[in-house]
Amino acid sequence: MDERQPDWEQEQSPSTEPIRRRPRRSRRQIPVLPQILAGTSTTTLLIGLGIVMASIILLVIVGALFGGSDARTAAEATATPLALTAPPADFDPAFPLQLERPIVAWFAPAGDVFDALPTGTRYRAIAHYGAEWVQIELADEQGPFWVRSGDIPPLPLDSLPDLMPPASSYQMYLPEAGETVYAVAERGGSEPALLKLYNNLNSVQVGNRPLIVPQVAGRGSTLPATVIAPNAGNPSRPYVALTIDLEAGDERVTQLLDTFREQQVRVTFFVLGRWVEQHPQLLRQIIADGHELANHSYSHPDFRSLSDAQIAAELNRTEALVQELGGTTRPYFRPPYGASNQRVIEAVAAQGYLSVMWNVDSQDTVGSPKTPEFLLNSMTATLPPEALPGAIILTHCCNTHHPLPDALFATLHRFRELGLEVRTLSEVLEP
Ligand SMILES: [Zn+2]
Repeated sequence: MDERQPDWEQEQSPSTEPIRRRPRRSRRQIPVLPQILAGTSTTTLLIGLGIVMASIILLVIVGALFGGSDARTAAEATATPLALTAPPADFDPAFPLQLERPIVAWFAPAGDVFDALPTGTRYRAIAHYGAEWVQIELADEQGPFWVRSGDIPPLPLDSLPDLMPPASSYQMYLPEAGETVYAVAERGGSEPALLKLYNNLNSVQVGNRPLIVPQVAGRGSTLPATVIAPNAGNPSRPYVALTIDLEAGDERVTQLLDTFREQQVRVTFFVLGRWVEQHPQLLRQIIADGHELANHSYSHPDFRSLSDAQIAAELNRTEALVQELGGTTRPYFRPPYGASNQRVIEAVAAQGYLSVMWNVDSQDTVGSPKTPEFLLNSMTATLPPEALPGAIILTHCCNTHHPLPDALFATLHRFRELGLEVRTLSEVLEP
């Protein structure tokens, strides 16, 4: 299982109605029967009529056998179309439209109407009007028509990667309140689907969640530069992120994974490339269990002492190892020793990674060896309960005597008692 793919069963329904397909309007003029019949003999006419009748009967039978989509089409015809065929009322002809963007990457058919469309149908964004209006057309139908960006249903992204352009560069950005992936992509020289997939977003709303904007070659960005390394997520959701820097161990890791599987909890592992190299089977198990992976460098150096090129090499070596095993560490990075500065954050962002810190330190590797009771307490009671929602907790895994595997069950239980769920980093950052 690819852990980058969002769980679509948890996808929230769009707050607005899905876009309705416009009634089909044929481009072609259908020849009128008398024109066809003119100049034919009676015998030919009768044979011809016989063939036509037989064809009609055959079509009716075929229609009855495979008529599911026909029934849907009839239902659609009675649905009130939301799609607009005219430009928006506030349309300003002087506004510079970006026409014919070189990408077919909005969304595949989804929802109660669009799954009746032929497989492979794609919408094509052909013009943007500001951040709010989009002019789109169906790949196999007439267009264009206008819709509000917010009316576009969620993207079934698992069907899109083949349509998305590769990122040529990356930029960090902290969105303004109310911005959507459409607005950010527009300003940042990206594509909405690419932006959403890259940042593991479940919604088109980005709130004030720090983003890495993957930029498409040839498109400029007008986004202001941002340097930020979040240490906490969204405090309005009852989630905490248990983030585990995975740099040692094997059978302790297995014990940890067993507990997560039994408790149906998924977390984020910041993996060290060197560890991945030595434990490919365990990494495959982590991917199969649906955990999220992130980057903790290849060899655990202090990034402040590295050049930009060395930083890129550390990140990319680990990413290549993880990709070989079917996963990805994008888009999160945790600096070894937590050692970072503005230049490191920027160099890491230029490689497509958001530096992620923490606001709860389990102190599992500080000083003398810790007991499971110590760890339970440091992870669940360092912050008062009201400050825990959105927390990002730092812990490690796991040398032989590390307390985390033995503390995990009680920790998950304690968080449940506090009304909190342990989730992945992406879920905790979700606006
Ligand atoms: Zn580390």
